[in-house]
Amino acid sequence: MKGTPPIVSIVGRPNVGKSTLFNRIIGKRDAIVDPTEGVTRDRKYGEATWSGHNFILIDTGGYDARSEDVILASVKEQAEIALDESDLILFMVDASTGITVGDDDLARLMHKKSKKVLLVANKADNEKSELSVFEFLKLGLGEPLAISAESGRRTGDLLDAVISHFPSNLAETEKSEDEISIAVVGVPNSGKSSFVNKLLEEERQIVTDIPGTTRDSADSLLIYNDQSFSLIDTAGLRKKAKVKENIEFYSTVRARRAMARSDVVTVIIDAARGGLQNQDVNVIIEALEKNKCLVCAVNKWDLIEKDTHTQKHWLADIHEILPLLEYYPVLFISALTGQRVFKVLDVATEIYTESQKRIKTRDLNDWLKKLVQITSLPSYRGKFVKLSFVNQTQSVPPTFVFFTNEPEGIKDNYKRFLEASLRAAFGFFGVPISLTFKLK
Ligand code: GDP
Ligand code: GDP
Repeated sequence: MKGTPPIVSIVGRPNVGKSTLFNRIIGKRDAIVDPTEGVTRDRKYGEATWSGHNFILIDTGGYDARSEDVILASVKEQAEIALDESDLILFMVDASTGITVGDDDLARLMHKKSKKVLLVANKADNEKSELSVFEFLKLGLGEPLAISAESGRRTGDLLDAVISHFPSNLAETEKSEDEISIAVVGVPNSGKSSFVNKLLEEERQIVTDIPGTTRDSADSLLIYNDQSFSLIDTAGLRKKAKVKENIEFYSTVRARRAMARSDVVTVIIDAARGGLQNQDVNVIIEALEKNKCLVCAVNKWDLIEKDTHTQKHWLADIHEILPLLEYYPVLFISALTGQRVFKVLDVATEIYTESQKRIKTRDLNDWLKKLVQITSLPSYRGKFVKLSFVNQTQSVPPTFVFFTNEPEGIKDNYKRFLEASLRAAFGFFGVPISLTFKLK
């Protein structure tokens, strides 16, 4: 299990070259864009690797372009949040202009947490401009690293400096093998913290430290029914952020980071918002793309007026929005009253076990034989497609390889049919499975 990739944010006035540096490190293709309305430029994040270290890079780009004052205020707010939320800040200034209005203000903010700030003087395109950057010593944040994001000059040195600043406790660590780590994700205010707190409050056996392991300080460990769990709470950011979009942006980044190192993703859905929202759907799809086991928990169930059919109707609505959720458990919980919160752990344990399951090759082929007898396979380029053999090549995620005369002839709708049939025969509830097709 990988450790948490640190978050590195690029902060600075408009036009200093943040986006240029971001694109140089991440590349436009791999950037994930946050298309927040009302900002002139999208905020972006992406995963980077340098000398074997992974980290998440954020371009805090977005700002409102109404007036200079508004822009600076907005840059400042972004910087404040970035300071709280990041493991390292690249504070970027413009070597071609020297210190200008706004740099001072930002530098003052940075002083509070200067340990995690690297001062970067960009647009130092040649040796001469490299010398001029010493002016920035006045900002009180140490010697600036002179780079040119556009030409790539000394950006390698910058990345070396970046990884040398990562706190050592973020190094990759092993978790104990039988522990299940659960990422608790969901939109702000859906009740993630309340859910985690409720579990910790009710369960006496909270583990604070397991010898020989280090982990993110935000993780909570608990033992329930002889099974140890680490809960990765992605909530936070209570203070400061006045702008809703800022909170949502960082909560996405946090969720992504938490999901990457979890075994099971629990998406907390806010019943008070009336059902599954777009943001929930996005996070669910992302979890499944990362091949994570998934439990959905519709929280604040105490607020919903209910009769005997209410759950059934909610479930039907959820399945209508996202049909593939029929393969994943959906629970109705209340973090406030504690209703079914431990059921989430029971189900997480079940599906985690399920994800490790291996199906015997003989059983798989008995199933396949019957299936091709009773169903007609698609034809492709005038030929009948044949499936001759299947085996499970790995677990977590369970991966099934089918051998066929026409791999190209297996279309999505047939794949979906195969998956449904395979799940009906062998389970894997709550677990993403992967089907691949090879030429016999
Ligand atoms: P941001 O607003 O801070 O994200 O700045 P951008 O990355 O959009 O860059 C602003 C302008 O500065 C663009 O015209 C870039 O081409 C230019 N720029 C960025 N990096 C460099 C550099 O290293 N040298 C020079 N000369 N120009 C640069
Ligand atoms: P987070 O941002 O996802 O961590 O959400 P919080 O745990 O901070 O909860 C947001 C708000 O929803 C708080 O006011 C909680 O008291 C409230 N809340 C959380 N869970 C429940 C619940 O099950 N029922 C009700 N009625 N309120 C809840």
